[in-house]
Amino acid sequence: MDPLKALADAERKPYWLDSPAKPEPRPRLTGDTTADLAVVGGGFSGLWTALMAKERDPSLDVVLLEGRRIGWAATGRNGGFAMATLTHGIANGLERWPEEVRTLEHLGLRNLDEIGETVERYGIDCGYERTGELHVATEPWQLEEMHRNAETAREMGVRFDVMDAAQVRVEVDSPTYVGGMWERDGCAMLDPAALAWGLRRACLEKGVRIHERTPVRHMRETPTGMELLTRDGTVRARAVALGTGVFPPLLRRLKHFVVPVYDYALVTEPLSAEQLASIGWRNRQGVGDSANRFHYYRLTADDRILWGGYDAVYYNGGRMRQEYEQRDATFTTLAEHFFTTFPQLSGLRFTHRWGGVIDTCSRFSAFYGRSHGGRVAYAVGYTGMGVGATRFGANVMLDLLAGRQTERTRLRMVREKPIPFPPEPVRSAGIQLTRWSIARADLNQGRRNLWLRTLDRMGLGFDS
Ligand SMILES: Cc1cc2nc3c(=O)[nH]c(=O)nc-3n(C[C@H](O)[C@H](O)[C@H](O)COP(=O)(O)OP(=O)(O)OC[C@H]3O[C@@H](n4cnc5c(N)ncnc54)[C@H](O)[C@@H]3O)c2cc1C
Repeated sequence: MDPLKALADAERKPYWLDSPAKPEPRPRLTGDTTADLAVVGGGFSGLWTALMAKERDPSLDVVLLEGRRIGWAATGRNGGFAMATLTHGIANGLERWPEEVRTLEHLGLRNLDEIGETVERYGIDCGYERTGELHVATEPWQLEEMHRNAETAREMGVRFDVMDAAQVRVEVDSPTYVGGMWERDGCAMLDPAALAWGLRRACLEKGVRIHERTPVRHMRETPTGMELLTRDGTVRARAVALGTGVFPPLLRRLKHFVVPVYDYALVTEPLSAEQLASIGWRNRQGVGDSANRFHYYRLTADDRILWGGYDAVYYNGGRMRQEYEQRDATFTTLAEHFFTTFPQLSGLRFTHRWGGVIDTCSRFSAFYGRSHGGRVAYAVGYTGMGVGATRFGANVMLDLLAGRQTERTRLRMVREKPIPFPPEPVRSAGIQLTRWSIARADLNQGRRNLWLRTLDRMGLGFDS
């Protein structure tokens, strides 16, 4: 199938946000107001923080300020894989926090359970399905790595089922698979924009005041708390939670730790019953292949396939621009890979194509902290795995603001910061060399060159 033909009519916008369910915007902030807690950012981080603050203490006066629209950024344009892992996978967790990885795995599973319970409690119609994730191997070295990961997971009490080619093809049928591993419990599939809009509704029902199209330009300390300055008004608050993702941070120190990485995705038209039967996929798992440059894919509620990943693009200087959300070379590559994986679906067309920005940090999992004498808390750096983990991060921010020692705040993972990225232009040069090395490793049975091995030893990395 000619990828250009398959892409010809694809709209240039995120599939999930292109929905009649998108709510009308809440009014901008005008004038001055006060709050007990001000939350900055209307993605998953900010929404979970505002909602759970009200759940912890319904009398708390909470205001949420979003610069554009609720869920417009990474939150509304991702793959919708809500992963249990808080550490970007068990292997990364084991490498960095071996003594607490077991606790982290269990906290992550509990967090995912609680996301399911919240969806149920508030009646959020976001297609939540606890299907697990099928990791597929397209090269023998990837299958060997799966056996090692499954063994580690088993020691942690987590179930990963390794499968040979025939077994995995019973689940999802691609001639490219040499094996796979089903992580049954560790992932739920959902419609991320619908979840964000549902959390928004739940916040409003609980009395959170939400202002959209209200970018916070500046944050400063006052004798009694913090002040957030916007174009047409200010918020004076006792405490502030920052869920601002990859965007220029209101706390300068954070800019050394996070770089913007663009990730891209396509969505097909709905599959017919025959097309679906030709690939199986009765258990509707999220699927991820296992090279360093990986694809992720899944079915939507109406049986389209969302197909994303592979290219993780860093624009030199860490630039972010709206035009970067479209990248035709990447869309063509993704479409080619799609038809290589599923030749049975030749003739299928894509209806949507888009990109979004990932807040990458050097340890691949979010980091947390406080400033201004504990009046401000932040959680950023989810590195492409924040659909589930942002809820855990929101709980950490609330614990930190309450000054409470909890099982979360006692974790070394929560107390430690990642290694900062070097300043430009060394940063861009280093990241591009790393991207090149990662691509080479995939062509070379996963073998890592000297540069990647040096980064590994330093605990520094680049991922999406
Ligand atoms: C293409 C793509 C695919 C992905 N796939 C997955 C996946 O399948 N599974 C997974 O777990 N993760 C995935 N991710 C990552 C996931 O989407 C993010 O980790 C998660 O959404 C982060 O949520 P957030 O609220 O921290 O950030 P964001 O969603 O970026 O929200 C931050 C918000 O803060 C607002 N803001 C920033 N600064 C200010 C300010 N000064 N004033 C007011 N508002 C401000 C922004 O406007 C924005 O709305 C993917 C990301 C992308 C881009």
